[in-house]
Amino acid sequence: MKRKSKLPIILKTILPFLLTMVLVIITIYGFVIPKIGEILFDQKKEKVKDLCKNTIQLAEQYYERFRNGELSEGEAKRRLIERVRIMRYGDELKDYFWIIDIDYTMIMHPYLPETEGTSMEYFEDSNGYRVFYNMSKLVKENKAGYLEYTWQLRDEEGVIEDKISYVQLFEPWNWIIGTGVYYSDIKRNTAEVTEGINFALTLISVLIGLVSLYIIIREIKAAEYRQQTSEEREKLISRLRTINTELNMAKKEAEEANTSKDQFLANITHDLRTPLNGIVGFSELLEDSSEKERTIHFSEYTGYIRRSGKYLLQMINDILDFSKAKAKKITLERSIFCLNDVISEVVTSLSFFSLEREIPIVFEAEGTFTVEADEMRLKKVFYNLLSNAIKYTKDHEPINVELKQSKNELLITFCDRGIGISSEDQKRIFSPFVQINRIKTEGTGLGLAIAKEITELHDGYISLESEVDRGSIFTVHLPRDILTEEEVSTQRPPVPEFLKDKKICIVEDDAISRKLMILFLKRYEMKPIDIPSGTEFLDYLKTDKPDIILMDIQLPDINGMELKEKLKETGAGEIPVIALTAFSSEEKTEELLKKGFFAVCHKPVDSAILLKRLAEALRPDPPINSD
Ligand code: ADP
Repeated sequence: MKRKSKLPIILKTILPFLLTMVLVIITIYGFVIPKIGEILFDQKKEKVKDLCKNTIQLAEQYYERFRNGELSEGEAKRRLIERVRIMRYGDELKDYFWIIDIDYTMIMHPYLPETEGTSMEYFEDSNGYRVFYNMSKLVKENKAGYLEYTWQLRDEEGVIEDKISYVQLFEPWNWIIGTGVYYSDIKRNTAEVTEGINFALTLISVLIGLVSLYIIIREIKAAEYRQQTSEEREKLISRLRTINTELNMAKKEAEEANTSKDQFLANITHDLRTPLNGIVGFSELLEDSSEKERTIHFSEYTGYIRRSGKYLLQMINDILDFSKAKAKKITLERSIFCLNDVISEVVTSLSFFSLEREIPIVFEAEGTFTVEADEMRLKKVFYNLLSNAIKYTKDHEPINVELKQSKNELLITFCDRGIGISSEDQKRIFSPFVQINRIKTEGTGLGLAIAKEITELHDGYISLESEVDRGSIFTVHLPRDILTEEEVSTQRPPVPEFLKDKKICIVEDDAISRKLMILFLKRYEMKPIDIPSGTEFLDYLKTDKPDIILMDIQLPDINGMELKEKLKETGAGEIPVIALTAFSSEEKTEELLKKGFFAVCHKPVDSAILLKRLAEALRPDPPINSD
C-alpha cells in the first residue's frame, strides 16, 4: 500500500497556528500598542497637569504666609522660587518646573538660570514658535492649558526635542508656573511596553510552536498507526477472502465427495443386493426343492451361490484394500515372480467373460521379466484394468495387452476400442467412487483408485490416453529397479510334510466359518478340533493340548486377549496362537502381535496365507509374521 505523505498533517496543524499568530501580531502592533501609546501619553499629560497644580497649591501656601504676615512678600516669593527650583520628578529625577512672569520675564528656570530676569517675549523654539509669548497668551485667555513646542532636553545642551507642557497662571503674583513632558519619554515608555509584549509574544510563539510540534508528532504517529492498522485490516480482509475461497472450495469438494458417496452408496446397495438376492434365492430354492430336484440342480445352484459370494467378498475386499491403500497402511509383501505369468493368469481368468462377448484378448510381451514386487496386489491392478477394458469395450473388438520395457520403466499397456473417456472425465476417474458411465451395472468406482494407489506404492504411476468412442489405453509404469536376476520357480510350493497330522484347535463361534476351516484343514491331512466357545476351549485344555490354535479374537463369552492370557495358567502358554480377526487395521495387527499372538489372519481367511502361516508356526524355528 502507498504510504501517505506527512505534508497534509503538518499543514493542517501549522496553518491554524500561523493564522492565529498573524492575527495576534496585527491586533497587537496595529491596535494594542498604538492604544497603549495613547494611554501613556494621556497619563503623562494628566501627570504634568497634576504636578503643576500641586506647585500652584505650594505657591498659594507661600502667598498665604505673606498674607497672614508671617513672611514678607519678597521673602515668600524667594522661598517659593527656591523650593520650586529644586523640585524634580521623572525616571531620572531630572524633570523640572519653571516660573515666568505674565509679562514674559523669566522668574526661575533650573537649567537656564542665565535667562532669569530677562524678557522671553521674543524667544522662539527651533521651529520659530514664540514659546513664552504663546504661554502668556494661553493663560490670559484660559488661565491654564497645554502647549507644544521644541526645547532643550533637560540639562543636555544642544539636544532639542518635542515637548508638551502644562502651564497655569498663579493670579496673586501674575506668575505662570509650568512643567512639561518630552515625547521621547513617552516613546521610550511605549517601547518598553512593546518590548515586554514582544517578549511575551515570543514566549507564546515558542510555546505554541512546541505544542504544535507535539501535535504534529502525535498526529504523524497516529496517522502511521492508522495506516498500519488499515494495512493490517486490508491484509486480514484479504486473508479472510482467501480463507473464504478455500472454505468454499472445500465445501464444494465436500459436497462433491458427498454426492460421490451418495452415488456410491446407491450403487453399492444395488451391487450388494444383486448377489445377495442370488445367494438367498438359490439357497431357498435348494431348501424347498424335492430330493430329486436338489440332486439334479445342486451343483448349478451352489455354483451360483459361490459366484455371488465370491463377488461380494471381492467387493468388500476392494473397499478394504482401497481404504488401507489410501491410509498408506499397506505394507507390500514383495516376492520374486515372473510378471509375464501374472499377466497371463489375469488374461486367462478374464477370458471367460470376454469370450462370451467375442472379445479376443491379445497378450504380447517383449521378453520375460522377473520382478520383485507384491504379486497379489499387482495382479489386482492388472485385473482391474483388464476387466474395465472388457466392460467398456465394444463387442467383437480385440483388447491388446502389452508388456515391454523402456529406458527406466516397465510398461504394461491395456488397449481397448471401447467407449473411451472424455478429457474432462480423465481427470476424475482415478478418484474413489467416481463412475462416469455405468453401462455395465457392476463395479464400485473403486477399481481405478485402488490400481492407482497400489501402483504408487510400487513407486510407479498409471497414464491414460483416451478418445470418446475410439477407445482407451491405460499404461502401468513400474520402475525398472523391481527387475531381478533371481530365478523364479513357476510351481507353487507343496504343502509341507510336517503339517500332516498336526492337531489344530479352531476356536470360533461362527459355525460356517468353523466348518469351512475344518474342511480346508482336513484336505491337507491335518487334524482340526472344533471348539465353538472360549469356555469350552479352556475345558478342552484340561484334557488335551493341540499343536497350534486358530482363535477368533471376538468370541462372545471370553475376549480373545483374555483367553490368550488364560493359556499360561493352563500350561498351554507356549502353544502358538494365530488370531482370526475381521479388523484389518495395521494398528490392531500390531497390538495383537505385541500381545504374543504368533500371527494375524484377516477374515475372510485366504487359504494360501493360512497355510503359509501354519507352516511358519510349526517349522522347527518359526519366524513372526502376519498377512
Ligand atoms: P468401476 O467399478 O465403475 O469400473 P473404476 O474405478 O474401475 O470403477 O472406473 C471408474 C470409471 O472409469 C468407470 O465407471 C468408467 O466410467 C471409467 N472407465 C474405466 N476404465 C474405462 C475404459 N477402459 N473405458 C471407458 N471408461 C472406463
